[in-house]
Amino acid sequence: MSCIRCIRNLRRSYSTQPPRPVRGMSDRLGVAEYKHRHILSRAEAAAESYGFEPIHTPILEYSSVYERSLGADSDVVGKEIYKFLDSSQQWMTMRPEGTAGVARALITNKLEGLMPQKFYYSGPMFRHERPQKGRLRQFEQFGVEAFGTSHPAVDIECISMAWQFLNSLDIDGDLSIRLNTLGDKESRVEYRSALLQYFTESKSRLSEDSLRRLNTNPMRILDSKDEADIAVAKDAPMYVDYLSSASRERFDFIKLGLDEHQIPYTLDDRLVRGLDYYQHTVWEVSCASDLLGRSQATVLAGGRYDGLTTALGGSRSLPGIGWAAGIERLALLLPDCRTPVPQSAIPVLIVPDRSLEPGSRVVGDCLYRYALSVASVVRKQRSAHVVHAPVHSSGSQSAMHPPLSKQLASVLSKTPAPPYVLIVGSNEMGQRQVIKRDTATQMQTVVDYGQISSHLDS
Ligand code: ATP
Ligand code: MG
Repeated sequence: MSCIRCIRNLRRSYSTQPPRPVRGMSDRLGVAEYKHRHILSRAEAAAESYGFEPIHTPILEYSSVYERSLGADSDVVGKEIYKFLDSSQQWMTMRPEGTAGVARALITNKLEGLMPQKFYYSGPMFRHERPQKGRLRQFEQFGVEAFGTSHPAVDIECISMAWQFLNSLDIDGDLSIRLNTLGDKESRVEYRSALLQYFTESKSRLSEDSLRRLNTNPMRILDSKDEADIAVAKDAPMYVDYLSSASRERFDFIKLGLDEHQIPYTLDDRLVRGLDYYQHTVWEVSCASDLLGRSQATVLAGGRYDGLTTALGGSRSLPGIGWAAGIERLALLLPDCRTPVPQSAIPVLIVPDRSLEPGSRVVGDCLYRYALSVASVVRKQRSAHVVHAPVHSSGSQSAMHPPLSKQLASVLSKTPAPPYVLIVGSNEMGQRQVIKRDTATQMQTVVDYGQISSHLDS
């Protein structure tokens, strides 16, 4: 009984409450959408200039794709993923990052034997985190992945592509690259046991999350954002002291390459990145700016993930490296005034005829048709639209139309405002003319219908 009442109450509240967006997920429109597209187009241009090709993978993957690659104890898989059982009783995960899906696609599309493969992608990612400035539950990433080459020259190329992309955006704030190496497996085994010993001695000061990391992957404690963990990690053993000579030489090659390409970086041996699959080179690019929240300064992060395809069940262990950038964080750093927006469409405004019905503003069918044909002449050269009456009367023959002043205020409030508008009324229709009104000067010129095209860009 009470259940039925619940359902009734729910129905009642559904019918009276306006719909709400999901927390941490937002709409994007107007300049925000143009900003987003601009950032993506710059990223695509950078990736294509380095020979990367587009790839598109689904938002849903079987959960095992992420569990096998990111590591079941990573923050993303352990705490942040949107995971559910679908109606076929399959565990599904909404894409939290791009690399695992691209690696899965490489295997699915039988490309493992056709190396190298270089891809770029973009799209929404989903992580159940605490929403704040620059941290959303649905956000977009642009990313690149290069498979099949282990030579450190590729690492240099990937970092320099990221740097080229970020610098092609005119963002507010200084960008800086932090660089580290996680070394090879052998180096990590030794470093892991040194860290385990150090953190076990300071166990009582570690956060709950880090106590868990102590047993699974103590290197992750170095990545913690918890103040207490940061204080303990400050005196932890340094990785450089445990690197094998091969790992050290590899890293030296990369540093030299970046120097030669004048790509600035600082070394940060506390940079470990949060996912299981990283090894050797890792880097993050952050931006010092009040526009991003305190913990959201990182706008792009990348690393090498040799062997990821094997973890996913592929037939070969392939080298791979990639990075991903957070589009929303970059958008926060890009001012509206530096966002290219498309040329505005020229509005064709119709002056309503007062004489047809006393007290009402009615546009006759002929005048509407004339306005449509004016717009189609303009559209041969640039975009144009007829400004319609917001409320239509029940019959299709006539429409209540706002006065010209209201139409002007509305079309000129757009960003960017159209450079001019075209105005037609019964008079202009009778004379087969239009009035061209310049937005900046408010000057009006009468133009013959046949001359419209030659007046458009003047
Ligand atoms: P953070 O340390 O900020 O949580 P992360 O290491 O989890 O970042 P990555 O998985 O490396 O992030 O993702 C690459 C980039 O994607 C980040 O540098 C950031 O710009 C962006 N990003 C990650 N999580 C979010 C989020 N929840 N909302 C918006 N952008 C995000
Ligand atoms: Mg994170």
